[in-house]
Amino acid sequence: MRIAIATLGCKLNFAESSSIAQQFVRNGFTEVSPYSKGVDVCVVNTCTVTEHSDKKCRNIIRRIHKLNPGALIAVTGCYATLKKAEIEALDGVSLVLEQDKKGSIYPLCMEMLEGSPCSDAIAEHIFPACSYGERTRSFLKVQDGCNYFCTYCAIPYARGRSRSVPVETLVSQAQEIAGKGVKEIVLTGVNIGDYDGGLLKVLKALDGVSGIERYRISSIEPNLLTEEMIDWIASGTKFQPHFHIPLQSGCDKTLERMHRRYDTDLFASRIDYIRSRMGDVFFGIDVIAGFPGETDSEFSSTLSFIRKISPAFLHIFPYSRRKGTLADKMEGQVPESVKTQRVKALEQLSDELHQQYCSRYVGSVQKVLFEGRVKGSLMGGYTGNYIRVERPYDASSIGKIVEVVI
Ligand code: SF4
Repeated sequence: MRIAIATLGCKLNFAESSSIAQQFVRNGFTEVSPYSKGVDVCVVNTCTVTEHSDKKCRNIIRRIHKLNPGALIAVTGCYATLKKAEIEALDGVSLVLEQDKKGSIYPLCMEMLEGSPCSDAIAEHIFPACSYGERTRSFLKVQDGCNYFCTYCAIPYARGRSRSVPVETLVSQAQEIAGKGVKEIVLTGVNIGDYDGGLLKVLKALDGVSGIERYRISSIEPNLLTEEMIDWIASGTKFQPHFHIPLQSGCDKTLERMHRRYDTDLFASRIDYIRSRMGDVFFGIDVIAGFPGETDSEFSSTLSFIRKISPAFLHIFPYSRRKGTLADKMEGQVPESVKTQRVKALEQLSDELHQQYCSRYVGSVQKVLFEGRVKGSLMGGYTGNYIRVERPYDASSIGKIVEVVI
C-alpha cells in the first residue's frame, strides 16, 4: 500500500511527519508524493501559524482528495487541533487527530483500513520524532508544547504544555541517525530552552554521539539562552556558531504587549555575550511586523534596534490574528497595507544585513557540508556559520564536510 505525507509549517512538524512515515514504511507501505495517484493513506500534518497557513492546509486536503478520492485522509497538527470541526467538514477527510494523538496515527489508520480495533491506538504523552528525509541533515525533536502564552500565539493551545523527550531517547535517536550516515542534527521543539531540567544536559549528552559532526539549535528564546550554555557551546563543542533567536520586536512597549519575557536590553546583552565568546556568529532573528498597536515610531525603534544588533538574517512574519489569543482582541489592529510596507522594509534590511555578513567571508577558507544537487549542475550546502555555498556538482563531496574558498 502507498502512504503519502503532506507537511506544512515548522521543522518540528517535518520531524514528526518523517517519524509518522517511518511507522508506515516499517510496516510495508511505500512512501509516495501526496500529489501522485494511487495513494492509499495520506496524512496531512497541518500548521495554524497564520490565516494563510489554514487556507493552504484546506487547499492541500482538497487537492489530495480530488487526485485520490478513495484514499484515507488523516489530518493532524496545530490547525487540526484548534479547528477540528472545520477540517471534519471537508470532503474526503476520514480522521482528524489532535496534536497529542499524533503518535497514534499509524495504529488508528490501520484500524480504519482493517476495520478492527487496534490495542495500541493510544495517544502518547510525547511523541519522539526525527527526520531522515535528507542524507546529510536530520531534525530531532527534543521538546513539544509551550507554557509561555505570548499574546499573539495559538501554539500553546494547539500543542499543549511543555513536555520533554527523555535524554536517553534523544541519544539513541541521534545514534540511529548517525548510523544512517547523517552528519548534522538540528534540534527542534516549540520552546526548546524550556527543556525539563535544562537544555544544557541534552547538548552535553548529544555532543558525545560519534558520527554526528555538527549540531544546531533551531530556535531558542533569548531569556533561556544562559551564559553557562553559551560558555559550554563556545568551549569547542560540535554546536555551530549559528543561533536562531526570536526577537519579534525591537520596541520594549510592543514586547510588553506581546507578553514576551525579555526586553531589548536583555536581548542585546545576549547577542553581545555570544559574540564575546564565539566571534562572528550567524544570528537569524524572528520579527513580527504590524503587531496590534505598533505605531510608526515603534516600528522605527525595531528597525534601529535590528541595525544596532546587526544579525545576519531576519525571519519576517506579518502579524496574523489568531482566534482565542489576547492579541486578537486588542485595539489598534494594524491595516494590512501598513503590514505589507513594514514587511518590505524588513526584507530590505534583511537583504542588506545578509549581504554584509556573507561578504565578510569572501576569500576565506570554510568547511561546508554539501547536501545535494541544486539547479542541475551545482551542489549546495552550508558552512558551520550557516552561509549557503554552491559550487559545481561533485558526487564524491555530497554528505561530506569539505574545505572551500568562499
Ligand atoms: S514562546 Fe511564545 S511564541 Fe513561542 S511557542 Fe511559546 S507562546 Fe508561542
